[in-house]
Amino acid sequence: MDAPQTLAGWLPTARSITVLSGAGISTDSGIPDFRGPQGVWTKDPAAAAMSTIGSYLADPEVRRRAWRSRCDHPAWSAKPNAGHAALVTLERAGRLRAIVTQNIDGLHQSAGSSPELVIEIHGTMREAECLSCGLRTPMPEILARVDAGEEDPPCAACGGIQKSATISFGQALKEDVLEAAIAAARSCDLFVAVGTSLTVQPAAGLCLEAVEHGARFVIINAQPTPYDGLADAVLRKPIGEALPHLVELTCGAQE
Ligand SMILES: [Zn+2]
Repeated sequence: MDAPQTLAGWLPTARSITVLSGAGISTDSGIPDFRGPQGVWTKDPAAAAMSTIGSYLADPEVRRRAWRSRCDHPAWSAKPNAGHAALVTLERAGRLRAIVTQNIDGLHQSAGSSPELVIEIHGTMREAECLSCGLRTPMPEILARVDAGEEDPPCAACGGIQKSATISFGQALKEDVLEAAIAAARSCDLFVAVGTSLTVQPAAGLCLEAVEHGARFVIINAQPTPYDGLADAVLRKPIGEALPHLVELTCGAQE
């Protein structure tokens, strides 16, 4: 199948595009895939414990390790890559409905995507959240306290346990965020899943929502996904090439 040729015919007609992005779009920026077959959590159950809400709440040592690991997270020094930049181009061309991302690294916003178009279904590591009162604080402020010697810094307002504002295993997704993601899937005319294995809900279900509501569906991913058969096109090329190419076909060549 010569997918790009097929795409070239109908991509320019796409007017309202929702992109679902997963870990694969950030690996080019040096951020490891935590959940994949070679993922950090898959290979190291102790690392997974830091992301499980029960052990995080129950074990101060897990929290101390988690704070140190937040200080050392590769995202703090990571730069957005060509894949992120392509989505900024898509937005500037007026064709982007939303970016629904499974990533917590904030790189879409760093690249220049409008924060109001980025729906972070797994939350963000750029903020800390108090698990008692819900207070949100920019993460660098809390990490400065960790650097200064507080191993498990409590909430400044209520003294509660804090965590990165991400969805840990055992935590429910935020309902308003999930609703926004579903709305973005239902109201687009093209749904592009990029760098995601489509094995984690609700991401996988969003593809079905989009297709059932009449959208075309493109997958850009190195590995096969359970939804390849549903897609109008599946691109196996590296994201840093495939996504800029898709955007160019959609919007016309950029200068
Ligand atoms: Zn609090």
